Amino acid sequence: MKSNREYVRDAGACPRCSSIDIEGGSIDVEGDSAFQKVGCNNCELEWNDVYQLIGYQVIERAEGERHTTDDPPVGPPYREV
Ligand SMILES: [Zn+2]
Repeated sequence: MKSNREYVRDAGACPRCSSIDIEGGSIDVEGDSAFQKVGCNNCELEWNDVYQLIGYQVIERAEGERHTTDDPPVGPPYREV
């Protein structure tokens, strides 16, 4: 069985048989960690992939994308003429 270091280096392969015929299930987030159940279709091993929060990325809006209600109003307020 691979060590964690070897498993991360060879990401996407079974820790026992090194097959890349593996399937991931849904992801559970707990605090700053996340876990995904993974199964190997070759040797039928099942394990959890363990993810750690390492940061965040602001999602840049595309040019001209409409603002949401969370945004401050843009420009002078509309007035009836
Ligand atoms: Zn396997």
